[in-house]
Amino acid sequence: AKAAGRNQYEFFVPDMNARAFERLMLENALRRGIERNELVLHYQPQIEARSGQVNGCEALVRWNHPDLGLVPPLQFIPVAEDSGLIGPLGEWVLREACRQQAQWQNSSMSELRMAINISALQFLKPDFVDTVKRALADTGANPQRIELEITESALMQPGTALTGRLLQLRDMGLTLALDDFGTGYSCLAYLKRLPIRRLKIDHSFVRDLPGDQEDAAVTSATLSLARDLGLEVVAEGVETVEQRDYLLARGCHSLQGFMYSRPLTIADFEAWTEARRQP
Ligand code: C2E
Ligand code: CA
Ligand code: CA
Ligand code: CA
Repeated sequence: AKAAGRNQYEFFVPDMNARAFERLMLENALRRGIERNELVLHYQPQIEARSGQVNGCEALVRWNHPDLGLVPPLQFIPVAEDSGLIGPLGEWVLREACRQQAQWQNSSMSELRMAINISALQFLKPDFVDTVKRALADTGANPQRIELEITESALMQPGTALTGRLLQLRDMGLTLALDDFGTGYSCLAYLKRLPIRRLKIDHSFVRDLPGDQEDAAVTSATLSLARDLGLEVVAEGVETVEQRDYLLARGCHSLQGFMYSRPLTIADFEAWTEARRQP
């Protein structure tokens, strides 16, 4: 038993150490990356379902690592959340997206909504509203064009402070969208009480539409609930005409997905949007 235990020990611990070490390396590299301005935003168009016109975009962060190339967010957002780096990272994203929106003012892009992902940890920081205020003031972004995408987990902290925070943001002119709707504990009572303007149907529900009965049920229930509550719905992960038609027929307001475009660099997004406007 002793020998087995020893073997286990030798096998187990170095492996854990290696993983912890890798994590630490990644964390340090990310910290440096943020300092060295290696983060970049890509923009994915959102399309008004009825007209087919671009009505906004979602800003999605990437890390342009000198050796690794473009690192996708799911590989470093969790590290940022565990290490506290989500604070500076989230603030960079917020300011960069606001700066971009401000640059669009007085241009043909001025009407576009800029949707920004906000991590629950970022949203729950006591100074979050002040951070947003400062970003708006410093960049000159139009709050009416800024949408904050928050997840259900950010709303799972009951209490009035949270509601007050949402109301403050709403009163500043921003809109709030509930991201990944249906994947968490959907506490439907929140929807009525909180100043949420839009729901984002997660792409896990869209992927197997219209064939999958459960996904179809969740999607159409979400759309009719939203209609009754006066909320708009954005569906993400729209890849096919069949998915689009299903969503359109049930009153989905906006569509986002590879069927229209992948997330694009700023130059490509602007060119794509211009080209789509041509008659
Ligand atoms: P999300 O908020 O659900 O964003 C949508 C993700 O779906 C994006 O992945 C997008 O590229 C992808 N997507 C869009 N259309 C399609 C499609 O038609 N098919 C498929 N299969 N996928 C599609 P991405 O950019 O890799 O981002 C992944 C997640 O990382 C985001 O999921 C979000 O939770 C997080 N994230 C991205 N940027 C930020 C950020 O700036 N801050 C925070 N806190 N989180 C971010
Ligand atoms: Ca999102
Ligand atoms: Ca998400
Ligand atoms: Ca999602």
